[in-house]
Amino acid sequence: MSYNYNGDKMENYLLKFNKLPDNKLIKDMRAYAKENKVPIINDEGLSFLLFIIKTRKSKRILEIGSAIGFSSINMALMNEDIVIDTIERNEEMYNEATKNIKKAKLDKRINLFLSDALEMNFDLLMKDYDFIFIDAAKAQYTKFFTMYEPFLVKGGVIFSDNLIFHGLVNHSELIESKRLKNLVLKIEKYNEWLAELDSYDTTFFSIGDGIAVSEKKND
Ligand code: SAH
Ligand code: MG
Repeated sequence: MSYNYNGDKMENYLLKFNKLPDNKLIKDMRAYAKENKVPIINDEGLSFLLFIIKTRKSKRILEIGSAIGFSSINMALMNEDIVIDTIERNEEMYNEATKNIKKAKLDKRINLFLSDALEMNFDLLMKDYDFIFIDAAKAQYTKFFTMYEPFLVKGGVIFSDNLIFHGLVNHSELIESKRLKNLVLKIEKYNEWLAELDSYDTTFFSIGDGIAVSEKKND
């Protein structure tokens, strides 16, 4: 992170030049997320997510953790050829996402599933993804990765979000809550596991809430 002489984050200066998708629905979703504390991806992470999808020309996307449909709608808006499967286990979130995806008229291109990703019926999925976005329960990332990576084509990418978890990762000694401490330790384990995983070429970025981009090797 870089700071100017006032201590302000320089990123905030540059970020405002990025043109993210913006319309009434997106504004409403942002407001809903803020009010209901839904952890949608932050703008810096979103800019990076959309940049990777654009430059890699990703077209077949799987998202684990839809929440209110904010990230899937943003991704679908990048290109008319993009199709997305997205999985959400929380019924309230699922209902909200269903409404939003309908309003965005993207229900033909975004397939939303109400299911725990760990219990998903794979028969319903496209299964030949060129991009997988892992953004659900942080303690389960290794499981999600292992479970879904067989559905990623060679050369495809897995994008993992929240790998510094609000700056708590690598500072578990500062955390009092046992549950939170465990969660943070699990994210650290995932990062270490991912860094050593031979079948993927992973690069970590201190962007947004911490992101890893893992490319499936051709071997
Ligand atoms: N990708 C969204 C934010 C997702 S927040 C965005 O950036 O707009 C994480 C979501 O994952 C929550 O809604 C939570 O209910 C869901 N989730 C957590 N564990 C899950 C699991 N095992 N299967 C499916 N969804 C899960
Ligand atoms: Mg996230």
